[in-house]
Amino acid sequence: MSTDALPIPQGRHRIAGEWVSPSGGETFPTTNPATGEVLAEVARGSGEDVDRAVAAARAALAGEAWGGLGARARGRILWKIADLLEGPHLESLSRWETLDNGKPIFESRWVDLPSVAAVFRYYAGLADKIEGETLPVDGPFFTFTRHEPLGVVGAVVPWNFPLIMAAWKVAPALACGNAVVLKPAETSSLTALMLAAVAEEAGLPPGALNVVTGLGHEAGAALVAHPGVDKLTFTGSTSVGQEILRRSADTMKPVTLELGGKSANIVLPDADLDAAVKGAFNGIFYGKGEVCAAGSRLFLHRSIHDAFLDKLAERARRLRPADPQDPKCRLGAIHNAEQMDRVLGYVRSAREEGASLVAGGERVTVDGRGLFFEATVFQGVTDDMRIAREEVFGPVLSVLTFDDLDEALARANASPYGLAAGVWTRDFPTAHRAAAALRAGTVWVNTYNFYDPAAPFGGCKMSGFGRELGQKALMQYTRTKSVWMGLKS
Ligand code: NAP
Ligand code: MG
Repeated sequence: MSTDALPIPQGRHRIAGEWVSPSGGETFPTTNPATGEVLAEVARGSGEDVDRAVAAARAALAGEAWGGLGARARGRILWKIADLLEGPHLESLSRWETLDNGKPIFESRWVDLPSVAAVFRYYAGLADKIEGETLPVDGPFFTFTRHEPLGVVGAVVPWNFPLIMAAWKVAPALACGNAVVLKPAETSSLTALMLAAVAEEAGLPPGALNVVTGLGHEAGAALVAHPGVDKLTFTGSTSVGQEILRRSADTMKPVTLELGGKSANIVLPDADLDAAVKGAFNGIFYGKGEVCAAGSRLFLHRSIHDAFLDKLAERARRLRPADPQDPKCRLGAIHNAEQMDRVLGYVRSAREEGASLVAGGERVTVDGRGLFFEATVFQGVTDDMRIAREEVFGPVLSVLTFDDLDEALARANASPYGLAAGVWTRDFPTAHRAAAALRAGTVWVNTYNFYDPAAPFGGCKMSGFGRELGQKALMQYTRTKSVWMGLKS
């Protein structure tokens, strides 16, 4: 099986099924954070490029090949995309995801790619199940609803899970019959371009999925402002999400926003403590902590605090940053230099504000190079410290102590964010009480950081609104029309 069939898209967008040079002719390099090596040139998209992509998407919607395609045929294409992602292109896409992002190949190969394929399969199955209703209205009418595609969907995604974040938007949008213009993060554009090529190989007509690369304030902003874009779906930071929400008012675009988090993970004394240690560990160190739902605030009950922390810190010390290409690597490279500065800044602030370091805390290199940071644990963190309030987006855990559940729930909810939360207990009523009381889009009980295409995901408060995944996501990509047929002549 070939692993190198996918072209490395040098300095080009993918528009209307073709590799297209940026109108301004400008490109910028994308690098491997584990080595500093340049991987490829990326096209610096302009408003003109976004215009071309939107026009291509409009043309696809107007054409028979995509706009006229039946729901079941759309589903078949999505299913075929999943086949290609899990089959001939699995190794290649995994490798590029790791090269461009810095994440362990173990994660790309065994988690990201399989879950991307699963998302396409899930929405493949739903494509022909988007059903309207007949409505029991008064009078001589036959009244029904149609759930129609919105039109052109603009999707802007971050760099932490480049393909997963793209799939969460592209798969349901296409299942509903929309056309998409995708703007990947400037530092992780390669696999998004490859995804478009793979989708076309699976039979997706040209223009149904276009990828315009470039900078957020250029290509991204042009997509947000474009009057030909009918919906905007965004995953990224809260500050950019706020900017997008403001801008989308000009063209009255509906938006879905998946933003940052500062998720609390609460361990009660009756929990299976070994399982909780493992869950807390994976909750913060999986994906280098560059995970929006990372369990970055660990609340330990005072009675178990010391023993629990000993085990957790021991584990963290054993998790050494390594070459992401090594199948044994479980802690890859920090994604970019800006992100490294952010991590270093938060570690400095935690020390200055009086938290004590129990594991990690240092920037390191692997084979003398790269952007790596140790798995880091601070204890004695208090709610007012920056490290407890703000999103680090790196492998840095804040450990806090509590005395009773109500206090822990109140402190967990005192964050401006509301993306996810965890609770560890063997007591069922306690688990239910916590699951209901935690203000978050997802609550994990006796587990953490699990996702599935069937389970809706999203936030509340400053973590955004709207839900991705599950059948709920279909609502984000369809418009309900009520049709009244008068029956009296
Ligand atoms: P970011 O800076 O907000 O960027 C996200 C995307 O938006 C990138 O493609 C970026 O382009 C683009 N962008 C930037 N400014 C823009 C503008 N003015 N208009 C339109 N697009 C713009 O976020 P990030 O640093 O890449 O990702 C980290 C953040 O994402 C964290 O806060 C994390 O919590 C959040 N996140 C949330 C979820 C979730 O599901 N809730 C998942 C993953 C990540 P450039 O690459 O050129 O900047
Ligand atoms: Mg890169």
